[in-house]
Amino acid sequence: MLDRFAAEAAADPREICGLLLGRDDVIHDALALPNVAPEPARGFAISPADQFAAARFARAAGLAVVGCYHSHPSGNLSPSAADLAEAAQDGFYWLIIDGARRRLWISRAGGQIAGRFDPVELQIIEAPAFRESSPWNLQAHLQPAGASANRRRGTSQAPRQGPSPQ
Ligand SMILES: [Zn+2]
Repeated sequence: MLDRFAAEAAADPREICGLLLGRDDVIHDALALPNVAPEPARGFAISPADQFAAARFARAAGLAVVGCYHSHPSGNLSPSAADLAEAAQDGFYWLIIDGARRRLWISRAGGQIAGRFDPVELQIIEAPAFRESSPWNLQAHLQPAGASANRRRGTSQAPRQGPSPQ
């Protein structure tokens, strides 16, 4: 999944974007969506119709839209002023990528970046046995870098879904 982002982002001078689908702080899949921003080299926007369709697709798969991803062709992996203005939903994950580089953020009121975002550590879980019938073979396990009782609850659940330790 992340390799795909890297290839897409590297091939496009505009910001590429999409939505992250997951459950319990684990990202299971991502949907690439058209960037409909008026200036796609300097910002991104996902149409309401695409957002709605993505939410429906996620629900059908037992997931939810838990975040979004987009590229910063500038190479700066911090949220831009436009991102800060858009980040209205608390608890939403924002993955910002530039080629193979990436940084994960969570929007949170009072966050350390302009009171809007906190950094989150991204871990990749290889899950070969996970849902053989599904096209997903990677899970991105999101572990908060900051101390948050609420989010730590989520991380303690994650091992159940990973490969069994043997
Ligand atoms: Zn941005």
